[in-house]
Amino acid sequence: MSDRDRLASDASAIARKLVPIATSGAEGRVNRRLIGGLAEEGLLPRLFPRRAGGTRDEDVSAAELCAVREALGRESTVTENAVAIQTLGAYPIVLAGSDAQAERYAGPVARGEAVAAFALTEPDAGTDAGALALGAERDGKGYRLSGTKVFISNAPDADVYTIFARTTPGAGTKGITAFIVSGDAKGLSGTVLRLLSAHPIGRLELDGVLVSEHQVLGEVDRGFKLAMRTLDLFRPSVGASVIGMAQAALDAAVAHASSRQAFGRPIKEFQAVSHQLAEMATRLEAARALVYAAAEAYDRKDEHVARRSAMAKLFATETAQQVIDVAIQVHGAIALEHGHLLEHLYREVRAPRIYEGTSEIQREIIARDLFRRPSEG
Ligand SMILES: Cc1cc2nc3c(=O)[nH]c(=O)nc-3n(C[C@H](O)[C@H](O)[C@H](O)COP(=O)(O)OP(=O)(O)OC[C@H]3O[C@@H](n4cnc5c(N)ncnc54)[C@H](O)[C@@H]3O)c2cc1C
Repeated sequence: MSDRDRLASDASAIARKLVPIATSGAEGRVNRRLIGGLAEEGLLPRLFPRRAGGTRDEDVSAAELCAVREALGRESTVTENAVAIQTLGAYPIVLAGSDAQAERYAGPVARGEAVAAFALTEPDAGTDAGALALGAERDGKGYRLSGTKVFISNAPDADVYTIFARTTPGAGTKGITAFIVSGDAKGLSGTVLRLLSAHPIGRLELDGVLVSEHQVLGEVDRGFKLAMRTLDLFRPSVGASVIGMAQAALDAAVAHASSRQAFGRPIKEFQAVSHQLAEMATRLEAARALVYAAAEAYDRKDEHVARRSAMAKLFATETAQQVIDVAIQVHGAIALEHGHLLEHLYREVRAPRIYEGTSEIQREIIARDLFRRPSEG
Protein backbone atom coordinates (compact mmCIF):
# COMPACT_ATOMS: atom_id res chain seq x y z
CA MET A 1 0.00 0.00 0.00
CA SER A 2 1.40 3.43 -0.94
CA ASP A 3 1.67 6.24 1.62
CA ARG A 4 -1.16 8.03 -0.18
CA ASP A 5 -3.43 4.97 -0.04
CA ARG A 6 -2.62 4.50 3.65
CA LEU A 7 -3.49 8.12 4.35
CA ALA A 8 -6.81 7.73 2.48
CA SER A 9 -7.63 4.53 4.32
CA ASP A 10 -6.84 6.14 7.70
CA ALA A 11 -8.98 9.17 6.77
CA SER A 12 -11.95 6.89 6.03
CA ALA A 13 -11.56 5.08 9.35
CA ILE A 14 -11.32 8.39 11.24
CA ALA A 15 -14.44 9.75 9.48
CA ARG A 16 -16.39 6.63 10.48
CA LYS A 17 -15.20 6.95 14.08
CA LEU A 18 -16.21 10.63 14.22
CA VAL A 19 -19.74 10.17 12.80
CA PRO A 20 -21.46 10.77 16.18
CA ILE A 21 -19.58 14.08 16.59
CA ALA A 22 -20.01 15.10 12.93
CA THR A 23 -23.78 14.65 13.13
CA SER A 24 -24.19 16.52 16.41
CA GLY A 25 -23.04 20.01 15.34
CA ALA A 26 -25.33 23.05 15.43
CA GLU A 27 -26.60 24.01 11.96
CA GLY A 28 -24.69 26.91 10.40
CA ARG A 29 -22.01 26.98 13.13
CA VAL A 30 -18.51 25.55 13.21
CA ASN A 31 -18.37 22.13 14.89
CA ARG A 32 -15.31 22.66 17.10
CA ARG A 33 -15.55 19.18 18.63
CA LEU A 34 -15.26 17.70 15.14
CA ILE A 35 -12.20 19.81 14.32
CA GLY A 36 -10.68 18.86 17.68
CA GLY A 37 -11.39 15.19 16.95
CA LEU A 38 -9.81 15.41 13.49
CA ALA A 39 -6.65 16.76 15.10
CA GLU A 40 -6.68 14.29 18.00
CA GLU A 41 -6.97 11.39 15.56
CA GLY A 42 -3.90 12.79 13.80
CA LEU A 43 -5.53 13.60 10.46
CA LEU A 44 -5.18 17.40 10.49
CA PRO A 45 -1.52 17.32 11.63
CA ARG A 46 -0.71 14.93 8.76
CA LEU A 47 -1.76 17.64 6.32
CA PHE A 48 0.59 20.30 7.74
CA PRO A 49 4.40 20.55 7.76
CA ARG A 50 6.25 20.61 11.09
CA ARG A 51 6.97 24.34 10.80
CA ALA A 52 3.19 24.89 10.81
CA GLY A 53 2.29 22.63 13.73
CA GLY A 54 1.92 19.44 11.71
CA THR A 55 3.79 16.15 11.42
CA ARG A 56 4.86 16.31 7.76
CA ASP A 57 8.58 16.40 6.96
CA GLU A 58 7.80 17.86 3.56
CA ASP A 59 5.67 20.75 2.42
CA VAL A 60 1.95 20.34 1.75
CA SER A 61 0.99 17.93 -1.04
CA ALA A 62 -1.93 18.45 -3.43
CA ALA A 63 -2.10 14.71 -4.20
CA GLU A 64 -2.30 13.76 -0.52
CA LEU A 65 -4.93 16.43 0.09
CA CYS A 66 -6.90 14.92 -2.82
CA ALA A 67 -6.59 11.40 -1.38
CA VAL A 68 -7.92 12.58 1.99
CA ARG A 69 -10.74 14.65 0.50
CA GLU A 70 -11.85 11.81 -1.81
CA ALA A 71 -11.92 9.34 1.09
CA LEU A 72 -13.82 11.76 3.33
CA GLY A 73 -16.22 12.78 0.54
CA ARG A 74 -17.24 9.14 0.29
CA GLU A 75 -17.85 8.85 4.05
CA SER A 76 -19.16 12.21 5.28
CA THR A 77 -19.54 15.55 3.54
CA VAL A 78 -19.58 17.36 6.90
CA THR A 79 -16.21 15.91 7.94
CA GLU A 80 -14.83 16.44 4.44
CA ASN A 81 -15.83 20.11 4.49
CA ALA A 82 -14.31 20.62 7.94
CA VAL A 83 -10.90 19.40 6.75
CA ALA A 84 -11.18 21.30 3.46
CA ILE A 85 -11.85 24.69 5.04
CA GLN A 86 -9.21 24.29 7.77
CA THR A 87 -6.61 23.67 5.08
CA LEU A 88 -7.96 26.29 2.63
CA GLY A 89 -7.87 28.93 5.37
CA ALA A 90 -4.39 28.05 6.65
CA TYR A 91 -2.46 26.90 3.56
CA PRO A 92 -1.88 30.47 2.31
CA ILE A 93 -0.02 31.01 5.62
CA VAL A 94 1.94 27.79 5.05
CA LEU A 95 2.71 28.75 1.43
CA ALA A 96 3.68 32.40 1.92
CA GLY A 97 4.15 32.96 5.66
CA SER A 98 7.39 33.33 7.59
CA ASP A 99 8.30 30.55 10.04
CA ALA A 100 7.02 32.76 12.85
CA GLN A 101 3.65 33.29 11.09
CA ALA A 102 3.36 29.59 10.25
CA GLU A 103 3.98 28.57 13.84
CA ARG A 104 1.80 31.25 15.44
CA TYR A 105 -1.23 31.22 13.12
CA ALA A 106 -1.25 27.90 11.19
CA GLY A 107 0.05 25.82 14.14
CA PRO A 108 -3.16 26.06 16.20
CA VAL A 109 -5.20 25.25 13.05
CA ALA A 110 -3.19 22.07 12.47
CA ARG A 111 -3.64 21.10 16.14
CA GLY A 112 -7.41 21.66 15.94
CA GLU A 113 -7.25 24.45 18.53
CA ALA A 114 -8.22 27.20 16.06
CA VAL A 115 -10.62 27.41 13.13
CA ALA A 116 -9.42 28.88 9.81
CA ALA A 117 -11.09 30.65 6.88
CA PHE A 118 -10.11 32.04 3.46
CA ALA A 119 -11.73 35.38 2.65
CA LEU A 120 -11.50 36.56 -0.96
CA THR A 121 -15.08 37.05 -2.21
CA GLU A 122 -16.96 40.35 -1.80
CA PRO A 123 -20.50 41.43 -2.68
CA ASP A 124 -19.22 43.08 -5.91
CA ALA A 125 -16.25 40.79 -6.56
CA GLY A 126 -16.96 37.07 -6.98
CA THR A 127 -15.69 35.56 -10.22
CA ASP A 128 -13.93 38.85 -10.86
CA ALA A 129 -11.94 38.62 -7.63
CA GLY A 130 -9.35 41.08 -8.93
CA ALA A 131 -12.01 43.80 -8.54
CA LEU A 132 -12.12 43.41 -4.76
CA ALA A 133 -12.46 46.66 -2.85
CA LEU A 134 -12.00 45.92 0.88
CA GLY A 135 -9.51 48.66 1.68
CA ALA A 136 -6.21 48.45 3.56
CA GLU A 137 -4.95 51.89 4.52
CA ARG A 138 -1.57 52.56 6.04
CA ASP A 139 -1.67 53.30 9.79
CA GLY A 140 1.78 53.72 11.29
CA LYS A 141 3.69 50.53 10.57
CA GLY A 142 0.49 48.55 10.09
CA TYR A 143 -2.80 48.82 8.16
CA ARG A 144 -6.48 49.46 8.85
CA LEU A 145 -8.88 47.18 6.98
CA SER A 146 -12.42 48.30 6.10
CA GLY A 147 -15.03 46.64 3.92
CA THR A 148 -17.16 43.52 3.48
CA LYS A 149 -16.46 39.88 2.65
CA VAL A 150 -19.29 37.51 1.76
CA PHE A 151 -19.86 33.75 1.34
CA ILE A 152 -16.86 32.97 3.54
CA SER A 153 -16.82 29.35 4.71
CA ASN A 154 -16.40 29.06 8.50
CA ALA A 155 -17.28 32.76 9.00
CA PRO A 156 -18.14 34.32 11.34
CA ASP A 157 -16.90 31.64 13.79
CA ALA A 158 -13.29 31.34 12.54
CA ASP A 159 -10.32 32.29 14.74
CA VAL A 160 -7.82 32.92 11.92
CA TYR A 161 -8.72 34.57 8.61
CA THR A 162 -6.58 34.96 5.50
CA ILE A 163 -8.12 38.17 4.15
CA PHE A 164 -7.32 39.67 0.76
CA ALA A 165 -7.50 43.47 0.70
CA ARG A 166 -6.76 46.35 -1.64
CA THR A 167 -3.50 48.13 -0.84
CA THR A 168 -3.17 50.01 -4.15
CA PRO A 169 -6.41 51.50 -5.52
CA GLY A 170 -6.82 51.27 -9.30
CA ALA A 171 -4.06 48.66 -9.70
CA GLY A 172 -6.42 45.70 -10.30
CA THR A 173 -4.88 42.33 -9.47
CA LYS A 174 -1.52 44.01 -8.85
CA GLY A 175 -2.76 46.04 -5.87
CA ILE A 176 -4.02 43.30 -3.55
CA THR A 177 -2.31 42.11 -0.34
CA ALA A 178 -3.04 39.12 1.89
CA PHE A 179 -3.37 39.69 5.65
CA ILE A 180 -3.75 37.37 8.62
CA VAL A 181 -6.59 38.61 10.81
CA SER A 182 -7.62 37.19 14.18
CA GLY A 183 -11.27 36.32 14.65
CA ASP A 184 -11.43 38.41 17.82
CA ALA A 185 -9.93 41.56 16.22
CA LYS A 186 -11.57 44.83 17.27
CA GLY A 187 -13.84 46.10 14.45
CA LEU A 188 -14.46 42.63 12.95
CA SER A 189 -18.05 41.36 13.04
CA GLY A 190 -20.07 38.88 11.06
CA THR A 191 -23.35 37.13 10.40
CA VAL A 192 -24.32 33.58 9.51
CA LEU A 193 -25.69 32.96 5.98
CA ARG A 194 -27.96 30.04 5.21
CA LEU A 195 -26.95 28.30 1.99
CA LEU A 196 -27.43 24.96 0.30
CA SER A 197 -24.10 23.69 1.66
CA ALA A 198 -22.69 21.17 4.11
CA HIS A 199 -20.70 23.72 6.07
CA PRO A 200 -20.99 26.96 8.05
CA ILE A 201 -20.72 30.11 5.94
CA GLY A 202 -21.09 33.80 6.63
CA ARG A 203 -20.54 37.46 5.90
CA LEU A 204 -17.84 39.61 7.49
CA GLU A 205 -17.80 43.35 8.15
CA LEU A 206 -14.45 45.00 8.83
CA ASP A 207 -14.66 48.46 10.36
CA GLY A 208 -11.14 49.85 10.66
CA VAL A 209 -9.59 46.55 11.82
CA LEU A 210 -5.98 47.30 12.81
CA VAL A 211 -3.35 44.79 11.69
CA SER A 212 0.37 45.02 12.36
CA GLU A 213 3.12 44.65 9.76
CA HIS A 214 3.65 41.11 11.15
CA GLN A 215 0.20 40.18 9.84
CA VAL A 216 1.06 40.99 6.22
CA LEU A 217 1.23 37.65 4.41
CA GLY A 218 3.87 37.53 1.68
CA GLU A 219 4.68 40.65 -0.30
CA VAL A 220 2.57 43.81 -0.37
CA ASP A 221 0.53 44.04 -3.60
CA ARG A 222 1.29 40.39 -4.48
CA GLY A 223 -1.68 38.86 -2.65
CA PHE A 224 -3.68 38.03 -5.78
CA LYS A 225 -0.89 35.70 -6.93
CA LEU A 226 -1.03 33.97 -3.56
CA ALA A 227 -4.82 33.58 -3.86
CA MET A 228 -4.43 32.02 -7.33
CA ARG A 229 -1.59 29.75 -6.16
CA THR A 230 -3.79 28.56 -3.32
CA LEU A 231 -6.65 27.89 -5.74
CA ASP A 232 -4.36 26.00 -8.14
CA LEU A 233 -3.54 23.74 -5.19
CA PHE A 234 -7.14 23.38 -4.04
CA ARG A 235 -9.12 23.03 -7.27
CA PRO A 236 -8.05 19.40 -7.93
CA SER A 237 -9.01 18.61 -4.33
CA VAL A 238 -12.50 20.06 -4.81
CA GLY A 239 -12.69 17.58 -7.69
CA ALA A 240 -11.47 14.79 -5.41
CA SER A 241 -14.10 15.54 -2.78
CA VAL A 242 -16.98 15.31 -5.27
CA ILE A 243 -15.50 12.15 -6.80
CA GLY A 244 -15.78 10.62 -3.32
CA MET A 245 -19.40 11.71 -3.11
CA ALA A 246 -20.17 10.44 -6.62
CA GLN A 247 -18.49 7.10 -5.87
CA ALA A 248 -20.76 6.68 -2.83
CA ALA A 249 -23.76 7.43 -5.08
CA LEU A 250 -22.60 4.98 -7.75
CA ASP A 251 -22.01 2.23 -5.17
CA ALA A 252 -25.53 2.78 -3.80
CA ALA A 253 -27.00 2.66 -7.33
CA VAL A 254 -25.18 -0.59 -8.18
CA ALA A 255 -26.43 -2.19 -4.95
CA HIS A 256 -29.98 -0.96 -5.54
CA ALA A 257 -30.03 -2.10 -9.19
CA SER A 258 -28.96 -5.57 -8.04
CA SER A 259 -31.69 -5.96 -5.43
CA ARG A 260 -34.67 -3.97 -6.73
CA GLN A 261 -37.09 -6.15 -8.70
CA ALA A 262 -39.35 -5.03 -11.56
CA PHE A 263 -41.15 -7.15 -14.15
CA GLY A 264 -39.89 -10.27 -12.36
CA ARG A 265 -36.17 -9.52 -12.47
CA PRO A 266 -33.56 -7.25 -10.85
CA ILE A 267 -33.50 -3.92 -12.66
CA LYS A 268 -29.75 -4.32 -13.41
CA GLU A 269 -30.88 -6.74 -16.11
CA PHE A 270 -32.41 -3.86 -18.06
CA GLN A 271 -29.71 -2.45 -20.26
CA ALA A 272 -31.28 1.01 -19.93
CA VAL A 273 -30.26 0.83 -16.27
CA SER A 274 -26.92 -1.01 -16.37
CA HIS A 275 -25.47 0.96 -19.30
CA GLN A 276 -26.23 4.25 -17.61
CA LEU A 277 -24.21 3.03 -14.63
CA ALA A 278 -21.41 1.78 -16.90
CA GLU A 279 -21.27 5.21 -18.53
CA MET A 280 -21.13 6.96 -15.14
CA ALA A 281 -18.43 4.62 -13.81
CA THR A 282 -16.33 5.40 -16.90
CA ARG A 283 -16.72 9.18 -16.56
CA LEU A 284 -15.95 8.99 -12.87
CA GLU A 285 -12.74 7.09 -13.55
CA ALA A 286 -11.75 9.72 -16.15
CA ALA A 287 -12.45 12.49 -13.64
CA ARG A 288 -10.32 10.74 -11.02
CA ALA A 289 -7.42 10.42 -13.48
CA LEU A 290 -7.64 14.13 -14.33
CA VAL A 291 -7.76 15.14 -10.65
CA TYR A 292 -4.66 13.18 -9.61
CA ALA A 293 -2.75 14.21 -12.77
CA ALA A 294 -3.38 17.87 -11.88
CA ALA A 295 -2.46 17.36 -8.23
CA GLU A 296 0.75 15.53 -9.13
CA ALA A 297 1.62 18.34 -11.57
CA TYR A 298 1.20 20.82 -8.71
CA ASP A 299 3.41 18.71 -6.44
CA ARG A 300 6.09 18.46 -9.15
CA LYS A 301 5.97 22.27 -9.29
CA ASP A 302 5.08 22.24 -13.00
CA GLU A 303 5.17 25.82 -14.12
CA HIS A 304 1.75 25.88 -15.78
CA VAL A 305 -0.62 24.04 -13.45
CA ALA A 306 -3.53 26.48 -13.76
CA ARG A 307 -4.92 24.82 -16.90
CA ARG A 308 -4.74 21.29 -15.49
CA SER A 309 -6.13 22.39 -12.16
CA ALA A 310 -9.08 24.12 -13.87
CA MET A 311 -9.73 21.07 -16.07
CA ALA A 312 -9.74 18.78 -13.05
CA LYS A 313 -12.21 20.90 -11.09
CA LEU A 314 -14.45 21.53 -14.09
CA PHE A 315 -14.68 17.93 -15.25
CA ALA A 316 -14.94 16.36 -11.80
CA THR A 317 -17.66 18.68 -10.47
CA GLU A 318 -19.77 18.47 -13.64
CA THR A 319 -19.33 14.67 -13.76
CA ALA A 320 -20.17 14.19 -10.09
CA GLN A 321 -23.41 16.10 -10.55
CA GLN A 322 -24.34 13.77 -13.46
CA VAL A 323 -23.39 10.61 -11.56
CA ILE A 324 -25.48 11.54 -8.53
CA ASP A 325 -28.41 12.48 -10.77
CA VAL A 326 -28.27 9.11 -12.56
CA ALA A 327 -27.97 7.29 -9.22
CA ILE A 328 -31.20 8.97 -8.14
CA GLN A 329 -32.93 8.01 -11.39
CA VAL A 330 -31.92 4.38 -10.89
CA HIS A 331 -33.36 4.43 -7.36
CA GLY A 332 -36.67 6.05 -8.25
CA ALA A 333 -38.73 7.92 -5.64
CA ILE A 334 -37.06 6.41 -2.60
CA ALA A 335 -33.88 8.44 -3.27
CA LEU A 336 -35.83 11.67 -2.85
CA GLU A 337 -36.96 10.89 0.68
CA HIS A 338 -35.58 13.37 3.20
CA GLY A 339 -32.58 11.82 4.93
CA HIS A 340 -31.75 9.41 2.08
CA LEU A 341 -28.03 9.37 1.18
CA LEU A 342 -28.78 10.43 -2.41
CA GLU A 343 -31.12 13.23 -1.42
CA HIS A 344 -28.28 14.52 0.76
CA LEU A 345 -25.63 14.14 -1.97
CA TYR A 346 -27.86 15.79 -4.58
CA ARG A 347 -27.96 18.92 -2.43
CA GLU A 348 -24.28 18.83 -1.49
CA VAL A 349 -22.90 18.35 -5.01
CA ARG A 350 -24.33 21.64 -6.29
CA ALA A 351 -22.15 24.27 -4.58
CA PRO A 352 -18.77 22.88 -5.74
CA ARG A 353 -19.66 23.91 -9.33
CA ILE A 354 -19.68 27.49 -8.01
CA TYR A 355 -17.07 27.84 -5.27
CA GLU A 356 -13.33 28.23 -5.91
CA GLY A 357 -14.32 29.44 -9.38
CA THR A 358 -17.46 28.58 -11.34
CA SER A 359 -17.40 26.06 -14.21
CA GLU A 360 -17.61 29.00 -16.62
CA ILE A 361 -14.45 30.65 -15.28
CA GLN A 362 -12.61 27.30 -15.31
CA ARG A 363 -13.39 27.10 -19.06
CA GLU A 364 -12.13 30.67 -19.41
CA ILE A 365 -8.84 29.78 -17.64
CA ILE A 366 -8.43 26.72 -19.88
CA ALA A 367 -9.28 28.68 -23.05
CA ARG A 368 -6.89 31.53 -22.29
CA ASP A 369 -4.05 29.09 -21.66
CA LEU A 370 -4.97 27.07 -24.74
CA PHE A 371 -4.57 30.08 -27.02
CA ARG A 372 -1.39 31.18 -25.23
CA ARG A 373 0.31 27.77 -25.39
CA PRO A 374 -1.77 25.62 -27.78
CA SER A 375 -0.08 22.22 -27.60
CA GLU A 376 1.08 22.10 -23.99
CA GLY A 377 -0.71 20.10 -21.32
C1 LIG B 1 -20.85 27.07 -0.55
C2 LIG B 1 -19.94 28.19 -0.94
C3 LIG B 1 -18.77 28.40 -0.19
C4 LIG B 1 -17.92 29.47 -0.50
N1 LIG B 1 -16.80 29.67 0.26
C5 LIG B 1 -15.98 30.72 0.00
C6 LIG B 1 -14.84 30.99 0.84
O1 LIG B 1 -14.56 30.26 1.79
N2 LIG B 1 -14.07 32.09 0.56
C7 LIG B 1 -14.34 32.92 -0.47
O2 LIG B 1 -13.60 33.89 -0.67
N3 LIG B 1 -15.43 32.70 -1.30
C8 LIG B 1 -16.25 31.63 -1.07
N4 LIG B 1 -17.36 31.38 -1.87
C9 LIG B 1 -17.67 32.32 -2.95
C10 LIG B 1 -17.39 31.76 -4.34
O3 LIG B 1 -16.01 31.64 -4.56
C11 LIG B 1 -18.10 32.65 -5.36
O4 LIG B 1 -19.48 32.46 -5.17
C12 LIG B 1 -17.71 32.33 -6.79
O5 LIG B 1 -16.39 32.72 -7.06
C13 LIG B 1 -18.64 32.98 -7.82
O6 LIG B 1 -18.85 34.34 -7.54
P1 LIG B 1 -20.35 34.92 -7.46
O7 LIG B 1 -21.17 33.99 -6.63
O8 LIG B 1 -20.25 36.34 -7.03
O9 LIG B 1 -20.91 34.84 -8.91
P2 LIG B 1 -20.67 35.94 -10.13
O10 LIG B 1 -19.22 36.27 -10.20
O11 LIG B 1 -21.65 37.04 -9.89
O12 LIG B 1 -21.07 35.08 -11.36
C14 LIG B 1 -22.43 34.96 -11.83
C15 LIG B 1 -22.41 34.14 -13.12
O13 LIG B 1 -21.65 34.85 -14.13
C16 LIG B 1 -20.68 33.98 -14.67
N5 LIG B 1 -19.48 34.74 -15.06
C17 LIG B 1 -18.89 35.76 -14.41
N6 LIG B 1 -17.79 36.15 -15.04
C18 LIG B 1 -17.66 35.35 -16.13
C19 LIG B 1 -16.71 35.25 -17.19
N7 LIG B 1 -15.63 36.05 -17.27
N8 LIG B 1 -16.91 34.30 -18.14
C20 LIG B 1 -17.99 33.48 -18.09
N9 LIG B 1 -18.91 33.51 -17.09
C21 LIG B 1 -18.75 34.43 -16.13
C22 LIG B 1 -20.38 32.99 -13.54
O14 LIG B 1 -19.78 31.81 -14.02
C23 LIG B 1 -21.75 32.77 -12.94
O15 LIG B 1 -22.43 31.81 -13.70
C24 LIG B 1 -18.22 30.32 -1.59
C25 LIG B 1 -19.39 30.09 -2.35
C26 LIG B 1 -20.23 29.04 -2.02
C27 LIG B 1 -21.46 28.82 -2.85
